[in-house]
Order: sequence, then C-alpha cells, then structure tokens
Amino acid sequence: MSASITGGCLCGAVRFRLDHAPVAARACWCRDCQYLSGGNASVSAIFRKAGLTVTGRPRRHEGRADSGTAMRRHFCGRCGTPLFSEASDAPDHLAVRAGALDDPALARPGSTIWTASAPPWGLVDPALPRHERQVAAVPGAP
Ligand SMILES: [Zn+2]
Ligand SMILES: [Zn+2]
Repeated sequence: MSASITGGCLCGAVRFRLDHAPVAARACWCRDCQYLSGGNASVSAIFRKAGLTVTGRPRRHEGRADSGTAMRRHFCGRCGTPLFSEASDAPDHLAVRAGALDDPALARPGSTIWTASAPPWGLVDPALPRHERQVAAVPGAP
C-alpha cells in the first residue's frame, strides 16, 4: 500500500481517498467526455476500486458510453464537478477525473483514446499512442 491519494470537488462537499497509485491514465475524446470536460478531452486516472472511501454524497448519472458500455458517472450535485465513473464491464476499477485529484500531476496520460470523435481543433499529443476508439486501459479496466 502506497501513500493515499486524495481528491474532491470544487466546492468541497465531496471528498474521496484512494490507498494506492493509479494503474493507468489517459486522455479521452469521446463525445461524452467532451460534455463532461467543457469541450476538451477529459483526462482520467484509472484506479482499482478497492480502497476507495468517499465522504459527502455525490450524485450519479447513468448512461451508455459510445463504446456501448453502461456507465455510472459520479459528480457533485452542488458544484457540478465530475468526480469519477464506473463501467459495467470493468467492475473492479474506476476512472477518476484528473481535475478532481488534489494532485492532477498524478494523472499524466499515457495514451489518447477516441481521437475519431475529436473536433478539428482538438490537440492530440503526438508523443502518445493514440486510438480512434475505445481500448481497455489495462485488462479488466474501463
Ligand atoms: Zn462540489
Ligand atoms: Zn471518454
């Protein structure tokens, strides 16, 4: 077990803690992520779900991702900050939005996914592996 990683929303109503480092991080240009980020790619760090503790009561939005997977997205009902999401086909992991981490530096992306959905002005890091659509971050993860 490594040092704990903490995060929360803009207004402070929701806080969370994880007791281990992320297993991966990446930028996603799927259309859903563009809504959730305000227009850009979203950057998420993938964590094993075990060891997650949450204080406060995030609200949830359930829907289907562009990949077809059922997604449950948690956000602060007071300030609207996207916090983390769970995918039905990866029940042991969750994707934490980089912006919700107290230290967003932990979420340096290792790849970019859903580049096919990026707008013409979207900046995709040419130094990183890129995928036009969905690929699993690690086996069994979203
Ligand atoms: Zn909030
Ligand atoms: Zn996405």
